[in-house]
Amino acid sequence: DADSILERQRARESSARTYARSFPIVPARAHGMTIEGTDGRRYLDCLSGAGTLALGHNHPVVREALRRTIDSGAPLHVLDLATPEKDDFTDALFETLPKEFADRARVHFCGPAGTDAVEAALKLMQTATGRRGVLAFTGAYHGMTAGALAATGSVAVKEPVPGGGAAGGEVTRLPYPYAYRCPFGVGGERGAELAATYTERLLDDPSGGVVRPAAMIVEAVQGEGGAVPAPDGWLREMRRITRERDIPLIVDEVQTGVGRTGAYWAVEHSGVVPDAMVMSKAIGGGLPLAVIVYDRDYDGWLPGAHTGTFRGNTLAMATGAATLRYVTREGLAERAATVGARLTARLEGLRSELPLIGDVRGRGLMIGVEIVDPEGPLDSCGSRPVAPGTAARVQEGCLARGLILELGGRFGSTVRLLPPLVITDEEAESVLERLTEAIAEASA
Ligand code: PMP
Repeated sequence: DADSILERQRARESSARTYARSFPIVPARAHGMTIEGTDGRRYLDCLSGAGTLALGHNHPVVREALRRTIDSGAPLHVLDLATPEKDDFTDALFETLPKEFADRARVHFCGPAGTDAVEAALKLMQTATGRRGVLAFTGAYHGMTAGALAATGSVAVKEPVPGGGAAGGEVTRLPYPYAYRCPFGVGGERGAELAATYTERLLDDPSGGVVRPAAMIVEAVQGEGGAVPAPDGWLREMRRITRERDIPLIVDEVQTGVGRTGAYWAVEHSGVVPDAMVMSKAIGGGLPLAVIVYDRDYDGWLPGAHTGTFRGNTLAMATGAATLRYVTREGLAERAATVGARLTARLEGLRSELPLIGDVRGRGLMIGVEIVDPEGPLDSCGSRPVAPGTAARVQEGCLARGLILELGGRFGSTVRLLPPLVITDEEAESVLERLTEAIAEASA
């Protein structure tokens, strides 16, 4: 039964287990937004495999792609040989790209995880520019392998590794325009302007200590950082600043991609055309797949310069292509925008009665509710002190009500909603109801 399975997991698996601690359940079956435990209990899943399951669990389109591919007798894994499935996935992927980018794009299939693709993107730009350093932002999350970890902001995940990971050179940390806790003590658009000005001045200061970098890497909406959207104007400034200084701009779309934020790719909201995009999670339709897509001017690797055994497997190509096309066909990015806006507005409306809610933010179905100490002092950005303990109680209260969601952001004080894009109106209502109750309970 569930208890003995959990007991054996505790005895045999690594002490680094995370989700298993917050959600001590043993999933048996899942469909759409619902996970059913071995004990028959049902949960609404607002985590979606950390954003991987754009179509929810076991979507018919994904199951059909799997069945068809297995039955066809196609080889499951052939390194980077051409296959009809890979060809079809590449078509499907290129159809989703902004036209200006697609026309000049090349794709590189990476190891199966987001962090592999981040490593590849940084390395590609190091090869292309002959430079080493990387510009990355406060609150950023790019992965757990050495280079990606170095670019990640969270000290908590960097500290266990002596030196905090290595990016083949130094990482310069720049301020992300996090309006609620703006690094310059000023919120809103003005805070974002200050962040952009600081970045530009720092890069141009001959005594600023920044050696000319190989790339800037940025998330258009920070995910693990607490569902923090960057203003479009700020992102356009980053594009201008990098272009004027001949610094390649990499946009990490691992979590924001495939309709999640209300556009197919989050970078599209701003109209920015990056030099490279990093993609994983939802592009595989639930199976592991990661790629970098970049401007052909950077296609400078010699054969074998960046290999790896598992560069996309046939099943993931098939489930990925089916997912990418379904999101377009069913207008799921638009749906994410509509449902996301409604959820965000309703949560915002709760602020006056539930003062634990310090900030509600996000884009599309990437939503953050920052839990604060309502008695704490108000600072110059209009924010109150973080309350990670209370946020953890909200998460527990949600789980007790059959709602799975994850915490993130500074000190883990932001409750994050990452439901599948196929969430129904009734499910959205149910999420709101359970979350509101859990926040009210944690307030008591
Ligand atoms: N980049 C971003 C923006 C992410 O959110 C994540 C995962 N949360 C990664 C990279 C790393 O992906 P993976 O966990 O698959 O290595």
